[in-house]
Amino acid sequence: MSLRELLRVPAGGPVDLAAIDPAGMPGVPDAARRHPRRWAQEQLVEVGAELAGYQERLYAGARAGGDRRRVLLVLQAMDCGGKDGATKRVAGMMNPQGMHIVSFGRPTEEERAHDFLWRIRRALPEPGYLGVFNRSHYEDVLVVRVHELVPPEVWRARYDQISAFEHELAQDEVTMLKVMLHISYDEQRERLLARLEDPTKHWKYNPGDVDERELWPAYQSAYADALARCSTDEAPWYVVPANRKWYRDWAVATLLRDTLADLGLRYPPGDFDPQAEKRRLIEADRLAKLSVAAG
Ligand code: ADP
Repeated sequence: MSLRELLRVPAGGPVDLAAIDPAGMPGVPDAARRHPRRWAQEQLVEVGAELAGYQERLYAGARAGGDRRRVLLVLQAMDCGGKDGATKRVAGMMNPQGMHIVSFGRPTEEERAHDFLWRIRRALPEPGYLGVFNRSHYEDVLVVRVHELVPPEVWRARYDQISAFEHELAQDEVTMLKVMLHISYDEQRERLLARLEDPTKHWKYNPGDVDERELWPAYQSAYADALARCSTDEAPWYVVPANRKWYRDWAVATLLRDTLADLGLRYPPGDFDPQAEKRRLIEADRLAKLSVAAG
């Protein structure tokens, strides 16, 4: 079974997050179980090279071939779930020039004056780009639902609005890959403690994280609903066990690699004859040298 089949949320759900082990390592072959970390790190080097190759074809196709395709990786997770780490490790293996990485925080006043998808539309990758969303429009059925920032009828209507929006994106040649990084309640505590113990990580700590943690069950339910209601064949959700960072990075990179591989990306052919161009170049050089020699 491919990693995508192992981690994918079936279209329409159901999703039982409590039944998915955040420390699990689906897709790591039995032969690698003695040293899974080393295996995954070695694999990641190869997967990274493939990612870079596909991304260059995607970019080249848009720049020189008029190809309108783009790819969007959406990352969602509980606090300390590893969105930043996965972005750094996975996006870091590709050419920054072809990446479009956007983080979504609390909406600004201007953003709040518009529909919740307004800021998302503005942040979509252009043709040829590989976009990464660190948080996304799903916050509008996660934090917004848990904190009742809008009336229930408003957030309830958003699942269908999101699916319609993502269908529209698929029609517009956006290939989406949505990943929830799944950590355990205990792992979150360990990561919060680690942040508090390390002064170089204090900038990442937010006292509000402790209050959010109290709402863990409400968030897990909100996640389960969002994943079940918005996993479609066009824009599938995947749940990546994320307690082990090395597994998380390997899994996200591999899901992305497999998604890119399906696109059949090719370098666009030039609209010139390379042999004729070579002759022209050599002839121009020869003439330049002659004129220098002639003084
Ligand atoms: P992160 O925690 O991802 O490193 P921040 O510290 O900037 O980044 O936190 C972003 C915050 O913005 C989170 O608490 C998140 O819940 C909140 N947020 C994101 N989108 C929305 C939204 N649409 N409505 C309300 N809050 C949001």
